[in-house]
Amino acid sequence: MVRDFECVVLGSGGSSGVPAIGCACAACTSEDPRDRRLRTSAAVRFTDPQGQSRTLLIDTSPDLRAQALRAGLRRCDAIFYTHHHVDHTFGLDEVRRFSLVMNGEIDLFADTTTLAFLERVYQHIFRRDPAPGSFVAALAAKRLRAGQAVDRYGLRLLPIPLLHGGVPILGFRIDALDGGGGVAATQPAPLPLAWCTDVSGIPPASWPLLTGLRTLVLGMLRHRRHPAHYSVDEAVHVAGEIDAAETWFVHMTHDIVHREVDAALPERMRLAWDGLVLGPDTSGR
Ligand SMILES: [Zn+2]
Ligand SMILES: [Zn+2]
Ligand SMILES: [Zn+2]
Repeated sequence: MVRDFECVVLGSGGSSGVPAIGCACAACTSEDPRDRRLRTSAAVRFTDPQGQSRTLLIDTSPDLRAQALRAGLRRCDAIFYTHHHVDHTFGLDEVRRFSLVMNGEIDLFADTTTLAFLERVYQHIFRRDPAPGSFVAALAAKRLRAGQAVDRYGLRLLPIPLLHGGVPILGFRIDALDGGGGVAATQPAPLPLAWCTDVSGIPPASWPLLTGLRTLVLGMLRHRRHPAHYSVDEAVHVAGEIDAAETWFVHMTHDIVHREVDAALPERMRLAWDGLVLGPDTSGR
């Protein structure tokens, strides 16, 4: 069984981050550190059943370098992408440092659309010129299919089909595996955990994949409605329907002043912040 599992919220901000460039609103000038939000992404850290420490990334935000340094990330065993948007992918170049440290290719899991986007944008990585001295990430791209789980290092990562406006994207449900390779009947907190950012709808077939969660991380953009993201009210409603033991919201714009919105949330729901560690004893931290 995996041990010491924690999910580090590397960033909790919307696509512009908070503060936003050129803005002097309440959130952008707030002195509360929880109102300083880099772009949304996560690092999952744990010790695998063989005793080896592992780190998985969910998305590579444009802030990845700063986030990796802040969180003290020292390795990267695999990257899982939710979708191709720039605020979730444009830190991929920084992964070259991890390739160097890992001394080999890093598995990159993404759906068809995201893989095509990455291969087009990052031609210097995927169609590498073998010129001596070039320093780019070494990656092994692998295609994710909705509902097909990836078992790695004692964890099962199950892609969950979600809707992001008109774009089909993926969330991830993470379960611990038992010695026989099945989902463990008793899982160490904060598992089972689902990471579902940039959501505006959950297809009917995906609801059963979100049952029995101890921890849900869910996208919440702003107060006003948006065609491709849940608003505050919508996110709270959906979190109530999913009914995880605890829910943390991410991907918030400068519309959200942490102290005000967090205080008004229902029980067992909180706003996340950059650097938040979802671990065995998360509540109140
Ligand atoms: Zn986004
Ligand atoms: Zn602002
Ligand atoms: Zn997006």
